[in-house]
Amino acid sequence: MIIANILKVKGRSVTTARPDDTVQEIADRLAQRKIGAIVIVGGGGSVTGIISERDLIRVIAQRGADALSMPVSEVMTREVVVCGEATSVDDIMEMMTNGRFRHLPVVEEGRLVGIVSIGDIVKHHIAEVELEVSAMRGYFATG
Ligand code: AMP
Repeated sequence: MIIANILKVKGRSVTTARPDDTVQEIADRLAQRKIGAIVIVGGGGSVTGIISERDLIRVIAQRGADALSMPVSEVMTREVVVCGEATSVDDIMEMMTNGRFRHLPVVEEGRLVGIVSIGDIVKHHIAEVELEVSAMRGYFATG
C-alpha cells in the first residue's frame, strides 16, 4: 500500500503558514483545526519548515509568554523529512519511528500535495488488519 491510497481517502488539503507568522497565530490555527502540526511554506510554495505542538511546548517552556510574538521561522524545524505519493506505508512507519516525529508532508515535483500523520497510518493499518481478519473468517467458514 502506498501514500496515494491514503490521500485518496483523507484528501489533499494541508494547513500551511508563512515563516513570519507568529507563534500565537500558529497556536490559534492548531487549536481551531484540531491538528498537531503545520507545514511552513516559503514564497514559491516550497516547504521551508514544519512546526508541531511539541515545538510550541518547548519554546513556551523556554521563553514563557514572550514566545507568542516570535516568528515561527525561529521555532520551526527546518530540516523537513518528506515523502512522495509512491512511498509505501511500511517506509512511512520506518521514517516516523527513526525520525521520532508523527507528521510527513507529501511532496511531488517540489509541490506540497498532502500530509500524513501517524493517526492516518494507524487508521489505515487497523482497516487493513480488519480486512485480513474478515477474509480469513470467510476462508475458514467455507473451508
Ligand atoms: P511531531 O511528533 O510530529 O509532533 O514532531 C516532533 C518533532 O519533530 C518536532 O520538533 C517537529 O517540528 C519535528 N517534525 C515533525 N514532523 C517532521 C518531519 N516530517 N521532518 C522533520 N521534523 C519533523
